[in-house]
Amino acid sequence: MKVLLVFAHPEPRSLNGALRDVAIKELEAQGHEVRMSDLYASNWKSEVDRADFPSLAPDARLKPAKASGEAYAADALTADVRAEHEKLLWADALILQFPLWWYTMPAILKGWVDRVYAYGFAYGVGEHSDQHWGDRFGEGTLEGKRAMLLVTAGGWEQHYGVRGVNGSIDDLLFPINHGILYYPGYDVLPPFVAYRVDRLDEAGFETAAERLRERMRTLETTSPIAYRRQNGGDYLIPSLQLRPGLGDPGATGFALHLNGAGIAR
Ligand code: FAD
Repeated sequence: MKVLLVFAHPEPRSLNGALRDVAIKELEAQGHEVRMSDLYASNWKSEVDRADFPSLAPDARLKPAKASGEAYAADALTADVRAEHEKLLWADALILQFPLWWYTMPAILKGWVDRVYAYGFAYGVGEHSDQHWGDRFGEGTLEGKRAMLLVTAGGWEQHYGVRGVNGSIDDLLFPINHGILYYPGYDVLPPFVAYRVDRLDEAGFETAAERLRERMRTLETTSPIAYRRQNGGDYLIPSLQLRPGLGDPGATGFALHLNGAGIAR
């Protein structure tokens, strides 16, 4: 497989840097081809602004989605964004790696998503009508490819359990897994999360590294999270509500969007 790893940590000698090296070494040992986008090392520009749309008239009001769609259609996005599109289309699998900062990804990675996920590329894809609300949530440009998160967290695993004070890790990562990865079509694999990492010793590191090696060995075969496809019949269109009768009675929130049968579709 071809694998793109997007790395969002400012220090190559960090734990994240060490885990990245472990992941890449194992992927290459398995015969996969790996490319990396190192966001801090490449001084990635994280904010969306006028500079992203060089062909926009200087006196035109900036409407980001419209400008994004026009620039994408005209192949007039900036070279750094176009290079990321090329890598995303090249890769069979995408790994987003980051330390959990304030319960989500570091700003630089959010900025990578904001800028790279152009209108017409990641959203605004397919027919948009009262019958078909776009190719998204299981369909889209990146359909057929796999994606997963590689995350480190200072908190304990129990703190992120279903009754943990932070909220469950599945809920915290849902906006990324479902809203960012599943949206443009990726099959989303369960995340790799290393907990309680701030005082990790060598033995703890080796345990985490071995768990990560195993995930890299099974990147091609791990079952994706069983999110429901938007256009698979489970949702009413155009209200995009889950059909009455689907989901566990009493279930609310993010878990509703899992196919109860546990089958990836
Ligand atoms: P580092 O600091 O580089 O290393 C962590 C430990 O691993 C060190 O003790 C290091 O010695 C050890 N280590 C062991 N072996 C190795 C090796 N081979 N190479 C390198 N290091 C090794 N945590 C939460 O749970 N939730 C939050 O919301 C949250 N918000 C945060 C917000 C901010 C702004 C910051 C700075 C931290 C936050 N944290 C949070 C903690 C954060 O998630 C962790 O600090 C981070 O995941 C640690 O990863 P790192 O790569 O920076 O680790």
